[in-house]
Amino acid sequence: MTEVRTRFAPSPTGFFHIGSARTALFNWLYARHTGGTFVLRIEDTDTARNTKEFLDVILESMRWLGMDWDEGPEVGGDYGPYFQSQRKDFYKQKVRELMDCGRAYEKDGAIWFRLEGERETVTETYKDGSTGETICKEFERVHAAPVVIDDIIRGRVERAEDRDFVIVRSNGEPVFHLVNVVDDIAMKITHVIRGEDHLSNTSKHIELYKAFGVEPPKFAHIPLILKTEGSGKMSKRDRGALIEEYQQRHFLPAAVRNYLCLLGWTPKDDKEILPIEEIIAQFDLADVHQANARFDERKMAFVNQEYLRALPDESFTWLAAPILGEAGLVNDKTDEDYIQKVIALTKEKVAALDTFPSFVRYFFEDSVAIDEKALAKISKKNDPYARCEELLPELANLPDFEDATVDALFGKLSAERGIKLSDYYAPLRLAVSGLGGGPHLQGILRLLGKEKVIARVKAFLAGKKS
Ligand code: GLU
Repeated sequence: MTEVRTRFAPSPTGFFHIGSARTALFNWLYARHTGGTFVLRIEDTDTARNTKEFLDVILESMRWLGMDWDEGPEVGGDYGPYFQSQRKDFYKQKVRELMDCGRAYEKDGAIWFRLEGERETVTETYKDGSTGETICKEFERVHAAPVVIDDIIRGRVERAEDRDFVIVRSNGEPVFHLVNVVDDIAMKITHVIRGEDHLSNTSKHIELYKAFGVEPPKFAHIPLILKTEGSGKMSKRDRGALIEEYQQRHFLPAAVRNYLCLLGWTPKDDKEILPIEEIIAQFDLADVHQANARFDERKMAFVNQEYLRALPDESFTWLAAPILGEAGLVNDKTDEDYIQKVIALTKEKVAALDTFPSFVRYFFEDSVAIDEKALAKISKKNDPYARCEELLPELANLPDFEDATVDALFGKLSAERGIKLSDYYAPLRLAVSGLGGGPHLQGILRLLGKEKVIARVKAFLAGKKS
């Protein structure tokens, strides 16, 4: 059996979108699953729209997601160069070959690919968009035999091209269809795995393979990614669409990669969060769904949270401490043991590291800012000030702030006064942290210590608006 060779062929004309990342990922997974080769080829023929900045973003994001390429920019390989902008002479030679055997010709300054089949002259009428004028244009319709695409995901698709198409523009730039096919042949690509939006190009591509006398590779067109709501395709402008966003928000790359795997593919037994080695072992193109996938930001956050939870405390600290430093909450003088304890207490509840500073701010700052929304919510059913008034002298009398001592106090008050435990917890949490939610309350009290807790409850009571 021939060795599998897949490729990811981005055009660096914009930021790295999750759709592109998922296409790269499925190519990478299939190459790793089969022990084949994953090629990265940069389709930068459109000189006006390609930039170095976007290329760097692609390379950087691929590295961040842990998708290493076996051949391509920076690593080289036997079939380079891997930038289409450096392969122009090769394309000229290939176009010449097509012209020499009568499968390409020049017209209106461009070079066209000639389809095989009966021809008839047809007049087409259409309205000019800007002038509204009706235009009649003659063209040659070709009755070419339909091309059969045996798509691994979509099954059998038949399509017939009915017009010759341009392969080199009048400005001399070769067109995507030509360079894509010529390079897939030269780079011995066995599987073309790409977005479903390319399915309509594939009949042209197969015509080109036939003209070059080469057996086409296997095709696998992967489903689109839809926005969280509605039937629209996820676009670059949608929140959560760019890989950069996740980098900036300190998501864990392994979590983002795991989530991307689920956009169009489901692991066995519906166990969705699993190590990449297991995903590689399980992943097969034949199991990729036909139906469109839907992006779900909440699920992405959930997967990230699961990965954060699974981190050992030391690894979490290693990642989180610099983020706390940047937010100005800790510095070289902060007690490391205290930071470690705050992390151990709060880690379970953190969905993304970018929100970590706001989640733990009150452990490191002297005063707390009361979340007014949380205050309003608690005040609907309960009087947080009255509860704190009751708690203040009792807390001040406690011999220590161990969980059992604090629990006994809450139990006693609740029984004596007929007030629900949660009606004490929420006001006290608000007073000491400023927030409506967070980690285990007893843990917060223990870490802050008696002095701070008392001071904060007093400050909360003093802040009561009359
Ligand atoms: N440069 C094309 C794109 O970014 C590649 C398509 C393909 O994978 O064949 O859409």
